[in-house]
Amino acid sequence: MDSWLSPKVPQLRHEAPGPVRLGPDGLTPDGDVRLYVCGITPYDATHLGHAATYLTFDSLVRTLRAGGYNVTYVQNVTDIDDPLLERAAKIGVDWRELATSQIDLFRSDMTNLRVLAPDHYVGAVESVDLVVSAVERMSDTYGLASGEGGADDVYAEVAADPRFGEVSGFSRVEMMEVFAERGGDPEREGKHDELDPLLWRGAREGEPSWNGKDLGEGRPGWHIECAAIGEHYLGGAPTIVGGGSDLVFPHHEMSAMHLRALGHEEPALYLHAGMIGYEGEKMSKSLGNLVLVSKLVDQGVDPRVVRLAMLDHHYADDHHWTDADLTRATERLQAYQDAIAARAPGAAMTALVVHDCMTDDLDTPGALWALDAWAAGDAPRMTEGDETEELADLVTTVDALLGICLIGGPFDTTCGCVESL
Ligand SMILES: [Zn+2]
Repeated sequence: MDSWLSPKVPQLRHEAPGPVRLGPDGLTPDGDVRLYVCGITPYDATHLGHAATYLTFDSLVRTLRAGGYNVTYVQNVTDIDDPLLERAAKIGVDWRELATSQIDLFRSDMTNLRVLAPDHYVGAVESVDLVVSAVERMSDTYGLASGEGGADDVYAEVAADPRFGEVSGFSRVEMMEVFAERGGDPEREGKHDELDPLLWRGAREGEPSWNGKDLGEGRPGWHIECAAIGEHYLGGAPTIVGGGSDLVFPHHEMSAMHLRALGHEEPALYLHAGMIGYEGEKMSKSLGNLVLVSKLVDQGVDPRVVRLAMLDHHYADDHHWTDADLTRATERLQAYQDAIAARAPGAAMTALVVHDCMTDDLDTPGALWALDAWAAGDAPRMTEGDETEELADLVTTVDALLGICLIGGPFDTTCGCVESL
């Protein structure tokens, strides 16, 4: 599937200050990074909560690559699943039309926010064969009649995996609390364990289905979709898996179990982005309080301001968006631009502090504090170095690591700005 046009990432003008440490335990990736980030299910998928998740992993890719890591980045699109079909039926459009329009909107949001495109952007529909062959390689699976004379539904046995639970650390009670509301089907009769995840859904009347060879007509389950796409396009199991914190269970737990069943014993590092609410409530379609990136941009909000507003919070923290976030970020962007125009001293030292913050589990609020201090005239000069060179160091650092071009226009994908300093 086509992704979007990546902005150009400028070469840093300083050495990385140290290795990248990630997660609460400060783990340092070892060798090449195979990054898998769970992508959207294309319905209502372009609000700020999603933007925050993909900005998080954009910061991660930028910081890893700036630190010399070789990163392969795969992201999927769940372009066939129950929620998409349900929404399409509810609003009376063809599910493919809904998916296409939402994926287009997502691409344009990502482009406007200057998010780096993944190396492989892969849909579930185009990956049906991958899923089928993955399921065929697995043992500890069983079929349940779909009840309409068609192919069976196929499930995986959680009881067969002694490591089940290690990703989320959830107790059985905690698992049961969220399983149904996050796409699980504990009520399904005949399952060996009510938590067993669906691998393949046999065809139903009126539902789209694909040729599953020995599995029969049907469509992929969600967790195996990510496991199979990741394994194939990364050339092995992911070393880092990312997504929103609501994916911890069941999605990442089940995908990890499937990867083990496919022979990948090495655990990945799981990074989860916090949830974004709106002024004290959960952001949701049903509450009518979705803040869409595209709407903000249509209203004339500079996408760099949206980006700065999201970077003001640590990725792992839940956060409630308020309109004041935009005001603060607008003032910040102006202050940084004014400081460049005034050739504020201490830019090289600030560039290093920004980079250092990013290597510390993507401490974007710390990076912005450093920029605030510099813009306020509080940054010490590191050397009596060339002022223009120092400013160029800072501008390229902010562009490369934070994805914000401080000199070009709001929609520039290539920042050729250093020459104009
Ligand atoms: Zn996923």
